[in-house]
Amino acid sequence: MSADAISPTDAPLRPDAPLRPDAPGADDCAPSDIALKSFFLGPQAENAEWLRQIINQVFESYVRWRREVYPDDGRAISQNDRQSSEFQGRRRHFERELLDLLARFESEVPKYSPRYIGHMFSETSMPAMIGHVLTLLHNPNNISGESSRVGVKLEAEAIEALATMLGFFNQGDQTRQNSQGKASPRGHFTSGGTIANFEAMTRARSRMLRFIARGAQARERGTLPALSLVEAAHLGWARYDALRPDAPSDSPDAENDPLSGDLQAMNPFALAELLGQHFAQPYRGPVLLVGEHKHYSWVKGVELLGLGKEALWPVRLSAEGTLCIEHLEQRLNEAAAAGRPVLMVVSVAGTTELGAFDPIDAVQDLLDRRAAALGHHIWHHVDAAYGGFFAASVDSNEAGSALSEPVCHALKAIGRVNSVTLDPHKLGYVPYASGAFIARQAREYLAHRIDAPYLVFDEEARDPGPQTLEGSRSAAGAVATWLTARTIGLNNQGYGRILRRTLQARQRLEAALGELAHPVRMLPASSNLLGFCVGAPGESLSTINARSEALYTRFGPQGAGDFFVSKTSLGLEAYGALLHPLLTDWGVARDDADTTHLTVLRLSVMNPFIDAREMKLDLSRAFAQALSEALDALAKEGMFKGA
Ligand SMILES: *Cc1c(COP(=O)(O)O)cnc(C)c1O
Repeated sequence: MSADAISPTDAPLRPDAPLRPDAPGADDCAPSDIALKSFFLGPQAENAEWLRQIINQVFESYVRWRREVYPDDGRAISQNDRQSSEFQGRRRHFERELLDLLARFESEVPKYSPRYIGHMFSETSMPAMIGHVLTLLHNPNNISGESSRVGVKLEAEAIEALATMLGFFNQGDQTRQNSQGKASPRGHFTSGGTIANFEAMTRARSRMLRFIARGAQARERGTLPALSLVEAAHLGWARYDALRPDAPSDSPDAENDPLSGDLQAMNPFALAELLGQHFAQPYRGPVLLVGEHKHYSWVKGVELLGLGKEALWPVRLSAEGTLCIEHLEQRLNEAAAAGRPVLMVVSVAGTTELGAFDPIDAVQDLLDRRAAALGHHIWHHVDAAYGGFFAASVDSNEAGSALSEPVCHALKAIGRVNSVTLDPHKLGYVPYASGAFIARQAREYLAHRIDAPYLVFDEEARDPGPQTLEGSRSAAGAVATWLTARTIGLNNQGYGRILRRTLQARQRLEAALGELAHPVRMLPASSNLLGFCVGAPGESLSTINARSEALYTRFGPQGAGDFFVSKTSLGLEAYGALLHPLLTDWGVARDDADTTHLTVLRLSVMNPFIDAREMKLDLSRAFAQALSEALDALAKEGMFKGA
C-alpha cells in the first residue's frame, strides 16, 4: 500500500479557507527542505507506511531479543492457554477497553497540526518517537547503571550532544579559565525544565556553602581574617583550591573541610546562627536574581528550598522586554550591601511570554568584571528551556532568515555560563517528559553530591541516582534526544534549519496579520513566538484586554478548533519599559488605572510544516482571515466595534 492510499491528502478543506492558486509540487522544494520531510510523520500522516515499518522493526527486534536471551527456559504461556475461555474473555474485555480508550483520545488536542499554534509544543519527530517507544519496551531506570546498562550511557552521550550544541566545548575565553577551566560538562535528563531549574538551585547552594565553609576556616586560621560572608560565598574555585593546596580538589569535602559537611546537613536556623557568629554579622540567606519575566518554576524553587519568596529579587526589564543590565548591576550592589550572597543570576533564553532572549553575553561580561574587580564569582544559570535549541542555528548566515544580532550574541555566550536548563520536549520535538540540566564543569555538577558508599566517580556516569533530585527516571527522554541528535543533528543543517523555517513562518504570520484592515497590534518578536492584541486608537486597555479574551474563546481549547492559540498577560509594571511607549504609539486611552496588564494572544510558531508550500492551505493567510472574521463577528454582536 502506498502512503498516499492511506493519507487523505485530498480531503475537502473548509470551503472558506484560502487556498493556494496552484500548490507547487515537491519539485519546488530545495533538497535540504525535502530532507526535513523525512523526520516527521507529516500533517496527514504522509510517512505512515514507513513509520509502521520502523515500529514493526523495533518490535520484532525486541521480541527476538527477548526470545534469545534465555532460549532454553521454556514457555509460560501455551497455545492452549491462549485458547481457553478465561483467556479469550479477558482478551475481549481488554480489546473493548482499548477501543473505548482510542475513542476517548479522538478528542485530544491536535497538536501535530500546523493549525495548532498555541502552547510550546507541536509535532514530535519520528526519530524521537522511535527512541521513546524502543525505550518504553526495555523500560530502563536511569537511577543507576544497575537498572539501566545501556540507558545511562546513552543519556551521557545525549548530554554531550546537547553540551556541544550549547558551546560548552569550545570556550577559549581566558577570563573564565581557572583551575577548572577545562571543559567537562556534565548533566542529566529531568522530567522537564522545572526540575532542571531546581537542579541548578541545589547545586548553586551547595557550592555556596562549600565556599562559605572554606572561607570561615580561612578566617579562623588567620589566613584571611577579614573575609566577609559575601566574599566567602563567592570565593571562586581558584581561591577555594589555593586556600587548601593540601586538599585534593575532587575528594569529598567533608574530609577536607569539616565545616562544609556540617553546613549542608544543618538545620537552616542553626546554620544562620553559626554563620552569624563566624562572620560577626547576621546571616539572612542568599538571594536569586531573575528578570520580571521569569517562569513560575523559580517561585516554586525558592519556596521548595525554604529560601522564602523574598529571596527572589526581580530584575527590571528593558525596552526590549529582557533583563536590564543596569538594574542587574544595581541589584548585585544592593545584595552585597545587605550582606546577602547571590545564589545565582538567571538569564532566560526564550521567555515563556514572548520568546525573547536576555543579553546572556552582557550578563556574563558583567559577572566576569565583578569577579575580576571584587573577587565575587557568581553562578550564572541560563533558563533555556524554550529557546536553547536555537543555539543549533546560530552560525547561520543565510540572509533574511537568521536571528537578530543581539540574540545570536546571547546564544553564543551560553557556552560561558555555569549551567543551563533545556527542554527537548519543547523545541527539540521530543515527546514528554524530556528536560535536561547541564553544568559546564563536572565539579559544579557534583557540588551537591550526596555521599553514598556505592557512588562511583567514573566517566561512564554509572550511578546518576545520588546526583539527581528525581529518583527513578525513565531513559526514554534521553534516548529520544539521542536518536534525534544522531539523525536530524543539533546543528545548522538539522535543527537549525527547522528552527529557521519557524522564524520565517512567524515573519509571514506577522505580515499577514499586518495586512488586515483591523488594528492588529503585534509585540516585538525575536524568535518564533508572536504576541498580539487588537485595539483601535482611543480604546482603553480594558477594552483591548476584553477583546483578547473574546478572541481566546474563539481560538482557545474551547473554540471551534480550526486554529489553536494561547494567551498570556504582560504586567504593565514588569514590562513597563517595553509597553508604555507601545501603548502610547497605539493611541491607547489610559483612563483605566485599575488595569495592570495587557492581555495578548500568543502564537507558538513551531510546527515544521506550518510553512509547507505544498499544502493547499496557506496557514498565515488562513489564520489572518479567521481572525478577521472573528473580529467582524464580534463587531456585529455589538462588542468591540472600534476594531
Ligand atoms: C517551559 C519552561 C520552563 C518549565 O519547563 P517544564 O518542562 O514545563 O517544567 C521553565 N522555564 C522556561 C523559560 C520555560 O519556557
